[in-house]
Amino acid sequence: MIDLRSDTVTTPSDEMRAAAADADVGDDVYGEDPTVNDLEARAAEAVGMEAALYVPTGTMGNQIAARVHTERGQEALVERESHVYKWELGGFAQHAELQVRTFDGGENGCPTPEQVREGYVEEDLHRPGTGLLCLENTHNAKGGAAAPAGELAAAADAAHDLGLPVHVDGARVFNAATALGVDASDLLAPADSVMFCLSKGLGAPVGSMLAGSEEFVERATRVRKLLGGGMRQAGIIAAPGIVGLENRERLANDHENATRLASELDEIEGLSVPEPDSNIVLVDTTEAGVTAAEFLDDCEDEGVLGSEFGDYTVRFCTHLDVDAGDVNEAVAAVERVV
Ligand SMILES: *Cc1c(COP(=O)(O)O)cnc(C)c1O
Repeated sequence: MIDLRSDTVTTPSDEMRAAAADADVGDDVYGEDPTVNDLEARAAEAVGMEAALYVPTGTMGNQIAARVHTERGQEALVERESHVYKWELGGFAQHAELQVRTFDGGENGCPTPEQVREGYVEEDLHRPGTGLLCLENTHNAKGGAAAPAGELAAAADAAHDLGLPVHVDGARVFNAATALGVDASDLLAPADSVMFCLSKGLGAPVGSMLAGSEEFVERATRVRKLLGGGMRQAGIIAAPGIVGLENRERLANDHENATRLASELDEIEGLSVPEPDSNIVLVDTTEAGVTAAEFLDDCEDEGVLGSEFGDYTVRFCTHLDVDAGDVNEAVAAVERVV
């Protein structure tokens, strides 16, 4: 079976399993796990922030960020198809007691400076006031689109002019940096905090990183504890994360595979498949006259898994456990289906 449902389905490599077995560990709630400390230092450096915190999931990282950056009762400005808005159980309302206001981020999910200014609400007797701008890069729902550094900086500058902190949901931020040919630390220079996942394209079994200033991370550490995310000998799971982080240049392979998958699928009559920026391929099945659900059922019978992204939209994701041969087989399988 070729599993293209998500880049989260990878299983840890032998190198990651060996790193876990050999990891030096301690109690991380006491700050005494050397492997977690090492991962946090490397993560901070990779994204150009002062400090970083190991968290169990990307969702927890985003939720902690919202809680730290804002005050109860404020608004958060988020993209209308963003993960924090659609796929985190309304957590900004539950954990940070925020009201959410959305903008339409167009092709790559990044707002224009005008959209930031339009979405901003100034606090007064009747209005809650905006407390946070949250961006997503790459943007999952926009097919892994990478917003260029200049656009991200323009949005962040507009937010800062209004006194708003900027959090980047960078679950796949290294995919964005790879796609844009920039260093992640340059891309994220205008942001106040970022979350990225170790458990997606980087291929680790567990965990995400939340990075920002030292003061931000100090406060984030308390919120992590509040949410039950303080872990003990976490070096066992952090060690594979270090392997994934240090091998991040391999994401270029996923992008190459995704680009070829998209162009070959696009040649199949009835399918429309735009060229992806990164590792996410969106397939439009409208012209073939089959729904995404029917298409996926038939793909499964032919040995290929994908995920339903809309009535006539399927998502295929490339990752560490998919090679060029798998791309060939997947294309052949879809040809049989259509
Ligand atoms: C996967 C994902 C998350 C959440 O990460 P989990 O580790 O699954 O909680 C957040 N944002 C985006 C854009 C994602 O793709």
